[in-house]
Amino acid sequence: MLECDVLVVGAGPAGASAAYFCTQFSDNKEVILLERLNKNKFFSYHEICGEGVSGEFVRDISPFRVRQEHIIEKIKVLEERWPGDIVIETKIDGYIIDRPQLLWDIIGEFRDRGGKLLNDALIDFEQKNKNIKVKLSSGEYIKSKYLIAADGANSKIRKKIGLHGRTKTLVQYIVDEPSPHGRIIFEYDEKWEGDYKWIFPHGKNTKIGFPRVKSIEKVDNIIVKQARRVGFGGIENYVVGNILLVGDAACQNNPLTKGGIRPGMVAGKMAAEAVSNNNPNEYDIKWKHSDFGSPIFLEIYNEIKKMNNEKLKEHIELSQDTLGIILHPNKFLKYRKFYKAYALSNKVGW
Ligand SMILES: Cc1cc2nc3c(=O)[nH]c(=O)nc-3n(C[C@H](O)[C@H](O)[C@H](O)COP(=O)(O)OP(=O)(O)OC[C@H]3O[C@@H](n4cnc5c(N)ncnc54)[C@H](O)[C@@H]3O)c2cc1C
Repeated sequence: MLECDVLVVGAGPAGASAAYFCTQFSDNKEVILLERLNKNKFFSYHEICGEGVSGEFVRDISPFRVRQEHIIEKIKVLEERWPGDIVIETKIDGYIIDRPQLLWDIIGEFRDRGGKLLNDALIDFEQKNKNIKVKLSSGEYIKSKYLIAADGANSKIRKKIGLHGRTKTLVQYIVDEPSPHGRIIFEYDEKWEGDYKWIFPHGKNTKIGFPRVKSIEKVDNIIVKQARRVGFGGIENYVVGNILLVGDAACQNNPLTKGGIRPGMVAGKMAAEAVSNNNPNEYDIKWKHSDFGSPIFLEIYNEIKKMNNEKLKEHIELSQDTLGIILHPNKFLKYRKFYKAYALSNKVGW
């Protein structure tokens, strides 16, 4: 039986970050990062993503250095298209990253610092006498003091603990056509049921995605079709005994933006710090008190889901009207919480 101090299950954004920061915050802990996919499949899996992150992301994962080879495009403009032909352009600072390569390089630095990457899958586990015993698909066992669950939206670990999580499928097409460089486009409409359609540049291609809903969207020149579930809206407890849940396993994808790379990596970092302090509950408290864990995102997402195109138009029109608060004080007050949530999601939602 293998033994370690910290076992991280899943090497996506949340798990790679947790493992990397475990070696950053404490140099005397044995850390194993367990990933079920081999390198080729890992790259294909992590390519299923718009790969958009805000500029803050680079600072959050420091001292890991995001390099030129990790950046596909620099993003400078956010274009929002709302019902009623309303188009809003905002200057922003972000990137389209080469996510698989970036994750692989973070894992590489984790290994250089003495961390161990194991290509195997968790199939079961039990918590006993403050230790966690994990059964792997190879038939091997690992005993660990802490378990960081970063096994994605369909998390076996979250389900076995019995924590309820919200998940949703996002569909994405890679299209053989460029879209304007440096610009990410969001289209809002009642048919997206609280979400949106995104159009992200990707070199000479474009990534077009939306939530899986009943209505069919016609997209031309598709070269690849992709789909995967995300976990959003949080869970009741992020720590159960010595198990810490992070990323989509903990439904930490932002309900409004459906961005989960940065929230997952920030959560991974917080969990690593708590484990290095031998105080796992510190992570639960820190996440719930951070802007990332604010309940306002889910509250407003649930409101937007109920809005038809007329209401979507009304509320966004008002947000652009500098005299709105004077001319329509009641309506403005009604939507004030929406505007607060949008501002906060720009800050921490991607
Ligand atoms: C189509 C699409 C587009 C998206 N676009 C963006 C975007 O532009 N920006 C953004 O910020 N977010 C985006 N997201 C969301 C983002 O991809 C997720 O929120 C993010 O991947 C969550 O990271 P994670 O590490 O928690 O989980 P995952 O990325 O799902 O990683 C989980 C890892 O765990 C491994 N694993 C699972 N089970 C086991 C097991 N039993 N044993 C061992 N290993 C296991 C998996 O192989 C995987 O490597 C998008 C999502 C989708 C579906």
